[in-house]
Amino acid sequence: MSNITRLDQFKKQQLKKKNKANTLCKSGFHKWEIIHKEHFDVKKGQLITTYQCRFCKTTKTRVH
Ligand SMILES: [Zn+2]
Repeated sequence: MSNITRLDQFKKQQLKKKNKANTLCKSGFHKWEIIHKEHFDVKKGQLITTYQCRFCKTTKTRVH
């Protein structure tokens, strides 16, 4: 079953790359700016603030 093991490792490596892309900006660190402050997200049923990086336009949300 070595093929399955290899595939599993490959998937984990891909996941690591993806996480790295999400956490790192091309300039090193994201510069987060609030684009939507403390609004109620109906899907999540929570109050959230949306941030966007001014360099790469990646967005993230923070739950309150
Ligand atoms: Zn960024």
